Amino acid sequence: MSGRPYVLAETRWGAVRETEYQVAVLPWGATEAHNLHLPYGTDNIESERLAIEAARIAWEKGARVAVLPCVPFGVNTGQLDIRLCINMNPSTQAAVLSDVVLSLEGQGILKLVILNGHGGNDFRQMIREVQPAVPLFLCTVNWYQVVDPEPFFADPGDHAGEMETSVMLHLAPDLVQPLSEAGPGAARRFRIAALREGWAWAPRRWSRVTDDTGVGNPAAATTEKGRRYAAAVSEKIAEFLVELARADVQDLYE
Ligand SMILES: [Zn+2]
Repeated sequence: MSGRPYVLAETRWGAVRETEYQVAVLPWGATEAHNLHLPYGTDNIESERLAIEAARIAWEKGARVAVLPCVPFGVNTGQLDIRLCINMNPSTQAAVLSDVVLSLEGQGILKLVILNGHGGNDFRQMIREVQPAVPLFLCTVNWYQVVDPEPFFADPGDHAGEMETSVMLHLAPDLVQPLSEAGPGAARRFRIAALREGWAWAPRRWSRVTDDTGVGNPAAATTEKGRRYAAAVSEKIAEFLVELARADVQDLYE
């Protein structure tokens, strides 16, 4: 039995030794509550499976992509009072990222894409700090920002809402509870106008914002909506992986 060659966790040394990998993809999620109907591993399942699907499409177009195992902990400092939400601080994430980057460096892998699935994670500043020290090209993609969800959903939502629930109904239907068990995902807004309007930013205290841990109503979620959206997202990421695999990192500008 042989695993999928673009999924590192399923691949053996014999195959790895023979393959000229061009791009590594590092899925990065979080372990946190997702309303009453989605599991704690939602962000990990989404980022890992979308990475694998994108890598499959890219591989079939000739790009040699390796999806690394998902890092399952995200920045959850605003959810510490919610049981079993596990926080990994940005400084710890930076150390993890740096170790992964330094491992790949010197192994002939010239490009790394982080595929992020959690809104509290932000790898841009970490990349700015690490990039000058290594020849490896580093970039980050938030999968939920790759394709505009508006044409796909009535009310996409922010966290465990219609979009995320639909994607999970498609990717991992066995792990989704009946939507009749979900809370409404109603969210309280900031009292202060600037924060409400979003031009001033502060992290949200999740347990004050929402009663069921969801932000966004999952009621209109369907498997079909999730299938269509996930396909659009993985296709677009795959195109990027193919283009990146071919690119000369010393010659990235027009
Ligand atoms: Zn999520």
